[in-house]
Order: sequence, then structure tokens, then C-alpha cells
Amino acid sequence: MWFTEHYQNDIKFSIEVQEHIYSEKSNYQQIDFYKNKTFGTFFTLDGFMMVTQKDEFIYHDMISHVPMAVNPNIKNVLIIGGGDGGTAREILRYKSISSVDMVEIDERVVRLCQKFLPQTASSLDDDFRLKIYFEDGLKFVQNSSSEQYDLILVDSTDPIGPGEGLFTYEFYNNCNRILTKEGILINQHESPYYEQDAYEMKRSHSKIKKTFPIAKVYQFHMPTYASGHWLFGFASKKYDPIKDLKSNLWNNLNLQTKYYNTDLHIGAFMLPTYVKQQLESNY
Ligand code: SAM
Repeated sequence: MWFTEHYQNDIKFSIEVQEHIYSEKSNYQQIDFYKNKTFGTFFTLDGFMMVTQKDEFIYHDMISHVPMAVNPNIKNVLIIGGGDGGTAREILRYKSISSVDMVEIDERVVRLCQKFLPQTASSLDDDFRLKIYFEDGLKFVQNSSSEQYDLILVDSTDPIGPGEGLFTYEFYNNCNRILTKEGILINQHESPYYEQDAYEMKRSHSKIKKTFPIAKVYQFHMPTYASGHWLFGFASKKYDPIKDLKSNLWNNLNLQTKYYNTDLHIGAFMLPTYVKQQLESNY
């Protein structure tokens, strides 16, 4: 038996299933957990790969450590989505963080990851700094008061289904409003490679660059996402991700990471020509 994700009509990715561990249709999406010999336990939402035990460190390192190495004074963090817990796990490694609000629309994702994927979700069990809200992220930011977060991490699904509202002007404007003057927004920024992903990448970049004075994009290699080439957005009111990188401060923290390091931090913002051209084009 194989799990197959359809990248586009003529391209698909398959991974052999040793065991189909669990399947459920929640109020928001179809949730499935599987086991593969190489990638370990993995889970999918509506047939799209979310997290595997083998490569989740890449995504979670890159969403968390890039902003923390630019502004080590980040104290109050908002995570939107991220129900598997991997992003919370990495951000809570910083003792300097005082509070993390995590807003996940689908409680079932959290509960099932706690059961089947403790590698990422055990971070959600017992840290007094973490508060989980089971709500729509768009509504949450609309109702939040201004200038209360230093960092927002949008660890969302793609802009189809429940994730759609997280790719709108309304969402980005509210993120801007609720971030402090030193605030940073990191968002799941799709991929430049296949047509549909590239379309969404351009669409969200054009909105973010109209909302924030600094709007950059950085890349990482994610073996189980379409094409393996994936992006995060870095938007800020004040900080440039390279000029303001505090390499020494970050390295002195002595955090052990498997993917992120401060040399790679700089390299990740150096984009291939075709990606730069797509991002510069007027959507
Ligand atoms: N790393 C993953 C990826 O890009 O494939 C994302 C992982 S995380 C599981 C994405 C989470 O975003 C899901 O659990 C989903 O329920 C949540 N989500 C989607 N739309 C949301 C919304 N509007 N508000 C809050 N959470 C949302």
C-alpha cells in the first residue's frame, strides 16, 4: 500500500505505507497517520503531507531559529496553526521567551499528534509559558490588541480549506497591527517550483510586501514537500534578516540544531534567479 500526494495532474509523490495507523474526518479536514520504514510516522491533512519524523527538524528549525537569531530579545510569541507542536517545541527551547500563544483551528490535530507523534507534540504537554487556543487564526488576530507580540509564526496549511484566511490582506494587516515596533512575522510561503505553489507564493509575497516595510523570503530543503524546495517569508517593521543577524549572540546560546546554523541563515536568503524574478514580478 502506498500514500500518494498529487502534485499536479501529471506528477505525484508516493511513499510506501507499512501501517495506516489512524484515520478520522474532523470538522475541518481529513486527518491520517501512517508509518513508513524510512520516514517513520507521518501525518497528512486532506491528502497533503504535513510532518514526518525524519525531516520535521528542517521545517521547525527554519521557522523558529531564523527570527530568534535576528532579535534575541523576543519575549511574546504567537503561533498560528502548528498543531503538531514542532514549532512550539523549538521556540520553547529559548529560556528568554516569556509566553507563547498557539492558535490551532483543529483540536483533533493536536490531540492525535499527542497520541501518535510525541516527537513533535510532547512539547505541548506541560510548559507553563504555552497557552493553546482552538480557534480560527484569522479571527484571533482580528480580536487581539495592538502591539502585543514580538514574533508571529504562521505554521499553516496551504491556502485551500481552513488555511485560506491566513493568506489574505486582512490577516497580514492584523499581524502588522498586533506586532510590536520590533515585530517579526514568519509565514509558510509555499514553493517556487510547481505552478500552483508558485502562484500562491507570488500572491502572498505581493500582499506581504505591501503590508510590511521589510519583506524577504528564505528557502530550505524539505524532502517530503512538493519538489523539495520550500520557502518561509520574513517580514518586519524594523529588522533586516541579514544586516541585523546576531550570529555571536545566537552561537553563544549553544543550542544544538541539526539543520539551522548562522552561516546557513545568510545563505538561505540567497535565492535562485528564477525565484527572485517570480517574487519581483507584479502579481
Ligand atoms: N508544516 C506543515 C505544512 O506546511 O505542511 C504545517 C503543519 S501544521 C499541522 C498546519 C496546521 O494549521 C494544521 O494543523 C491546521 O489545522 C492549522 N490551520 C489551518 N488553518 C488554520 C486557521 N485558519 N487557523 C488556525 N490554524 C489553522
